[in-house]
Order: sequence, then structure tokens, then C-alpha cells
Amino acid sequence: MSLRIYNTLSRQTEEFVPLQTPQVRLYTCGPTVYDFATIGNFRAYVFEDLLRRTLRFRGFQVTQVMNLTDVDDKTIRGAQAAKVALGDYTRQYTNAFFEDLRTLAIEPAEHYPAATAHIPEMIALIEILFQKGYAYRSEDGSVYFSIAKFKDYGKLAHLDLTGLKPGARIAQDEYQKENAADFALWKAWQSEDGDVAWDSPWGRGRPGWHIECSAMSMKYLGASFDLHTGGVDNIFPHHEDEIAQSEAATGRPFVKYWMHCAHLVVDGRKMSKSLGNFFTVRDILRRGYSGREIRYALMAVHYRQALNFTFEALDADCGALARLDAFSERLLAHNDQKSAVSGQRSEDGGQQSKIENQKSKMSALPAWMGAYLAAFTRALDDDLNISLALAALFDFVHEGNKRLDEGALSPAEAAQALDTLAHIDGVLGVRPGDTLIPPAAVVQLAQARLQARQRKDWAEADRLRREVEAQGWIIQDAPDGFRVKRNSDPRVNAQIGNG
Ligand SMILES: [Zn+2]
Repeated sequence: MSLRIYNTLSRQTEEFVPLQTPQVRLYTCGPTVYDFATIGNFRAYVFEDLLRRTLRFRGFQVTQVMNLTDVDDKTIRGAQAAKVALGDYTRQYTNAFFEDLRTLAIEPAEHYPAATAHIPEMIALIEILFQKGYAYRSEDGSVYFSIAKFKDYGKLAHLDLTGLKPGARIAQDEYQKENAADFALWKAWQSEDGDVAWDSPWGRGRPGWHIECSAMSMKYLGASFDLHTGGVDNIFPHHEDEIAQSEAATGRPFVKYWMHCAHLVVDGRKMSKSLGNFFTVRDILRRGYSGREIRYALMAVHYRQALNFTFEALDADCGALARLDAFSERLLAHNDQKSAVSGQRSEDGGQQSKIENQKSKMSALPAWMGAYLAAFTRALDDDLNISLALAALFDFVHEGNKRLDEGALSPAEAAQALDTLAHIDGVLGVRPGDTLIPPAAVVQLAQARLQARQRKDWAEADRLRREVEAQGWIIQDAPDGFRVKRNSDPRVNAQIGNG
């Protein structure tokens, strides 16, 4: 059995074979930090987290990059309306975004590059496009990409370009398929931009949105990488334009698999402030729901289907989680190794070695338990079929409860059932204590810091400690090494966008 995923590029479900197995390089289009992200935005981030966790569950090692768009039309307008500097304006929403990621137990990416910290990389990429004849300057000093020069233009969105007007241009970052035209790589400064501008070989201005993702993805993941995700809204023009810029510049295939998450609607209608059905994660928390309940609701519908968010459905999801919790409690009470299991959840320790441990435990499962785990895995292997995966989990809960009722489950089996639930939760991330487990990348940083301390390289140790803190964790020294704990103060994330 192997993992199969639906590739937007081929419009087919394909076997997932990374370019350099078992390494997987994943790029996720991140937020534009001009406001609090909505549950619609977070549906896409929960989807990419399910993908990331499934890849790890299936034995791959993931390097993920998520960009932060901190300069564009919307952030500039917002900063001007608030009468603050662009960086001060975006920082508050960047911090809020990271806080929401933690609320939803979304595993941190390895890199969170901010657009404003990568302007030289974008300029360098535009210069290559000039040298290769794909870029040109317009009368106002802006730089455009000539889509007529790139013969594959339209391959992702499956565009029919027969009626295209040669040389037509579009200055906005977002536009419709009918308006396919040469798009802006660099926008010449206009008075509306205020003090937001950078010097470039083409005069002062700012980058277009699309070039940001091409420059930053290739900087951190290389010219060709495995997976690129986003919402269906990103297919055109954003991802189409990313392909054009990147492949024109490098002459190599940019991304092997493209995955896109469908929309979220609320009570069957598009979210809008005027309809009163517009929600951020914070809005839902204020109604008394927890992060894991929101996470479950955003995850429980297949990512390629529209998700209709309703509070009735959310209440039903809370019920499902309560059944899962009740089953865990029963197993804990029945199992004679209580302390060992709960200790495993709250202690530090490498996530990867935990996965290895779990793997060897999983091979010795009783047949009935192994069958549910296999069904869960098979469902995920089928393009992340979460509905079937959850059905397998709740069938397991049902049978486990039945065996407990009948006195047909030994304490040793209860321990195995708890291990199985923990293994499954590595993918789902909905157990109450889940946000207490540090991600592998953080543990690695903490280990590197310990080594730096041992060789008395205090500056390096200090740098690594700050890096861990920037990801929302704190290191506590202990006689046998260290502990990594979640930092409950969200302000520690202020520096994270400078990846
Ligand atoms: Zn992007």
C-alpha cells in the first residue's frame, strides 16, 4: 500500500513518490497578515497539517515552508487606515496567526519566511526573467511577465488562451480567468503606497504577490520540489503565475504535485460580514468551543469537498470527541500501566523516536485492533479520505467499548489500545494534551543547544534558545538534559516572521 493523492496538475489521483524519498519538500501559501484569519482560511491550514502529519505517519520526513505575505495592496491600505508603519501593522496579525495555529494544534512549519525579508531574492529572480526574455518594463516603470513567451501558461488552471489579447496587462494581484494577461512582477511606486517602497534596478517600488512565493519557495526548497498546497482560489492566477515565473527562470519543473483545498461556507452561504456568518477562530472560541473541537470540525470533511460549517455540526463533532475521550478514560482505568502512558504524553523527548517506538509496538497488535489501524491507514492513503479514516477510528472505539463491557479486554490490551489511539492521534491531533508535545524540529534545536552548551559555545546556545522560543516553546535545563515546554505567553512569537 502506498499513499495516493489527487494532483491538480494532472487532474488525477497519483501515487505519491517524492523526488528524493523519504524527504518531502512542501510549500504552503500562507496568510496575508492584514487581519485575523477566518475559519475559511484555517480550513486550508488544517488540511495542510493533516497532509503533513499523514506524510510523517507514512514514514516521510517533511520540510515545510509557509510564507507570510506582509506587503500587498491590503496590508498597505490597512496600515494607512490605522496610521501605523506597515511592519507594526502586520506584526500584530502575524502574532495572532501563530497563536491561532497553536490553538488548532497545527504543527509548525520548518520555515516561515516573510515577504519583506526577501526582497533581494525577488529582485534577483526578476533579473533572471529579464535576461531570459520573459520580463519587460511598462511605461510607468512596472515590470511585467509576458505570458505569451511561456508556452505552458495555463497548464495548471487548464486555461483556454485562444482569445487572449497579446500584450494585455493586469496590475492587480488577484484577477479572474477571463482576464488572463501579463501580470506584474514589480510594481512601480505610486502615491497610494506611501512610504512602502524598495530600491530596484527598475526604480523604487514593491514586488507583485506571485513572485514572492516563487522566490521564497525556491530559496528554501530548491528549484524543483514535491508538494505545493493552497486553497482552490489560489489555482488561478496565483499558482499558475508561480509556475510561469519559476519554470521560465530555471528551465526545470517547479512542483511535482499540486493539492488544493475546497471552500468553506457557513450555513450553506459564503461567509460575509453583512450576513452575520463571518467567523475567525477567536469568534468560535468566544462561544465556548475549544481549539481541538474547531480543528476536528475543519478536518472532518474531505479536503476536496466544500465544507458547510454549522454550529449543529460543531456540536455533533464535540460529541464525537467526547466519545473518544470517554474511551481513552476507560482504557486508562483498565490498564495497569497508567503512569507510563500518561508520562509518555507530557514528557519531552524526540517525536521521531516516539514514532519509531510506536511503529514497533503497532506490529505486535492483536488482529482485531490491527485491522482498524490498517483501515485507518488505508483510508488516508486514498487521497486523505478522512471520513473513512474517522469511521475506522469510531468502529475501533465501538468494538473496544464492547469488549470492555464484556470483560473481554485484558489490561495489556488496554495499553495497546491506548498506544493505537496515540498513534492515530499523531495524524488527527485532537487529544486534549496534544499541544503539549513539541514538534521534532523544536526538539532538534533544543538538542543542538545542549551540545553547544556542552562545548561552552554560549553565543550559539543562546541563539538556539531564542530560536526555540520564537517557535512558541521554552527549554528548561534538567539534570539529565532538558525539557521542552509550550510557552503559554503568545508574545514570544514576535520574531518568528524573519525566517
Ligand atoms: Zn503563494
